[in-house]
Amino acid sequence: MVSIADLNNTNWVQWCPGCGDFGILIALKGALVKLGIEPHQTVVVSGIGCAGKLPHYIRTYGFEGIHGRVLPAASAINMANDRLTVVGVGGDGDGYGIGMGHFIHAMRRNYDIAYIVHNNEIYGLTTGQTSPTTKKGVKTKSTPHGNIETEVNPIMLALASGATFVARGYSGDIPHLTSLIAEGIAHRGFALIDVLQPCVTWRKDLPYELYQKMVYKLEKEGHDPSSFEAAIKKAQETERWPIGVFYKTQKPIYTDDIPFIKEEPLVKHDISNVDISKFIEEFM
Ligand code: SF4
Ligand code: MG
Repeated sequence: MVSIADLNNTNWVQWCPGCGDFGILIALKGALVKLGIEPHQTVVVSGIGCAGKLPHYIRTYGFEGIHGRVLPAASAINMANDRLTVVGVGGDGDGYGIGMGHFIHAMRRNYDIAYIVHNNEIYGLTTGQTSPTTKKGVKTKSTPHGNIETEVNPIMLALASGATFVARGYSGDIPHLTSLIAEGIAHRGFALIDVLQPCVTWRKDLPYELYQKMVYKLEKEGHDPSSFEAAIKKAQETERWPIGVFYKTQKPIYTDDIPFIKEEPLVKHDISNVDISKFIEEFM
């Protein structure tokens, strides 16, 4: 049986005291415990940013890649060994800015991975610049007169891109977030868990108190996650901030159409007798 202690390590956590990232880390560990997934069966993949440090703080396999490339690395790991649980983690700048193209293609391909986005509406690690989810009019270091761009709506984007599991959590409600992450990991296909994550250093205008006041749970108000139309409607809501599962459906995953991976993970294939010299010659 897996316990939280199995997932802890002794690395010094470098996030600012009070950062919402702590809640996400605790929830991810709780979700893995809930599902009984062993550390050696899990790979946590990140890009660059405050969220990018997460793989350092959990005792699983981990890979910290380059900015915006969480999903290419995560999908490659999933293709190489689809028996592993692959969890991508990153920020809003990493995933919805630099990595936007990968985000859309990963969803339409429906790789079997869970993707947790620490959405704090700012570039935190680079000290407070406007990100793709910063709302119009917000003053940041890079937009001292107010952001003139319209923000990305990741939930709408995910729905439009064919994601099969679309959820939003709040890092200040750890039990709820734990359930969402567990459901996303257990889902067969691409699962987006966008997380409202207070950045206590660079978004002092978005404190925990405001999130506490604004968030509400979709499941408590009778939302039907099997309805695409209902999900679209909820995704556009701004007067209050819905959290929970917006939409969930089943579609074939990417590897379903690749029989030789389906039968046996790529890493188990015997390639000792494979001669690739002719193939290489073609490129010389
Ligand atoms: Fe968290 Fe913001 Fe500090 Fe980054 S800068 S660790 S997001 S509080
Ligand atoms: Mg951010």
